[in-house]
Amino acid sequence: MDESEPARADLVVVNAGEVITCLPRGDDRLGRIPDGIVAVAGERIVGVGTSDEVARRVDLSGATPLDAGGGIVAPGFVDPHTHVVFGGSRVEEYAATVGGSLELFRAGHTTGILATVEMTRAATVEELTDSAAARIEAMAVHGTTTVESKTGYGLTPECELKMLEVNRRLDEAMAVDVISTFLGAHAIPEGMTAGRYTDQVVAEMIPRVAEAGLADFCDVYCDEGYFSAEQSRRILEAGLDAGLAAKIHADAYSDHGGARVAAELGAVSADHLNHTGRGDMQALAERGVVGVLMPGLDFAVAHPRPFDARAMIDAGITIALATDLCPGCWLESQQLVMALAARLYGIPADDALLAVTVGGARALALDDRGALAPGLLADLQIWDAGTHLDLVYKLGRNAVVTVVKRGRVQVMEPVEAMT
Ligand SMILES: [Zn+2]
Repeated sequence: MDESEPARADLVVVNAGEVITCLPRGDDRLGRIPDGIVAVAGERIVGVGTSDEVARRVDLSGATPLDAGGGIVAPGFVDPHTHVVFGGSRVEEYAATVGGSLELFRAGHTTGILATVEMTRAATVEELTDSAAARIEAMAVHGTTTVESKTGYGLTPECELKMLEVNRRLDEAMAVDVISTFLGAHAIPEGMTAGRYTDQVVAEMIPRVAEAGLADFCDVYCDEGYFSAEQSRRILEAGLDAGLAAKIHADAYSDHGGARVAAELGAVSADHLNHTGRGDMQALAERGVVGVLMPGLDFAVAHPRPFDARAMIDAGITIALATDLCPGCWLESQQLVMALAARLYGIPADDALLAVTVGGARALALDDRGALAPGLLADLQIWDAGTHLDLVYKLGRNAVVTVVKRGRVQVMEPVEAMT
């Protein structure tokens, strides 16, 4: 930027009780600025600070004011782990799990991932796009401005590519950015072994996915009954060779070596980590692998083993929090994720906020969002809240009144009822 010409803002967020930048300012890790303003030009932030600080560097004369009403201005949430694209719903199954009648339900129905695979295979691209769009709209209403979306309910080359095409359409059609992850190795399809399916993922699917250019990441479900550490390594290495950065579902239900694979390969993130030991935490920290934690999923499945967030933070792992929105955990709000993380896992509110903003961005290797600073995307939200602590205190309440995505103030439609 030319230093002699002040940047001209076209939007300026004013009348905030506080701007939380989520970047260190003095000794405040959250970088809070009382009475701060945020100036935006196009889709980028050009100024953040007190009005005097910003006015020295930015021409605000032509900027449209956006009144924060005395509330808090914060970065838009980044949700770095979701399975938001899927056919149908598993509401009856979920009700059976909480009602204690799952065994009875199982006698007459396919359940779990394979039930969703059936419904996803039967759905058209348009149906999958419409149903996921309604969920992403609800996420945006709750402050999320970037969503990762995994495949993994196709489990054939054709249906996995269909899901990737849905991701592409969602990213194109929606204000929220949709980051696409290929998770062909989400489960073992019926009639296959893990070994044979691994061969197919490596030899056939990853090359086709890479050629189509429809994914940024390759992911694998490494656990008992899914893919072994060795199979996971083969899949992620094939992805890396094809230009897909690595993510892994690791140690959710057993210590299956997933975190070690993540550290050895330098994966961008290792997700779940319920059974990860101290040595593996150290390895993740040393390789800069982000730990993605999903308290909502553990809540929805009544997970018997809580992840040890405190130990991970102490080990120096960068923590991200995600909804893990999927048919088994229909959770659209990163605010509720923060509240669960704080109460159930002892993650302090400040850390929880950093984990849904900068942490989420790091879990997607995105350095242009997750915080408020000149040059970053103007992805921000305004909360009707006196303090960010309200987000872990007022349970189930949506604090968001306004969302700005890439510099555009979003008109928040009530979420349409799904058919
Ligand atoms: Zn997942």
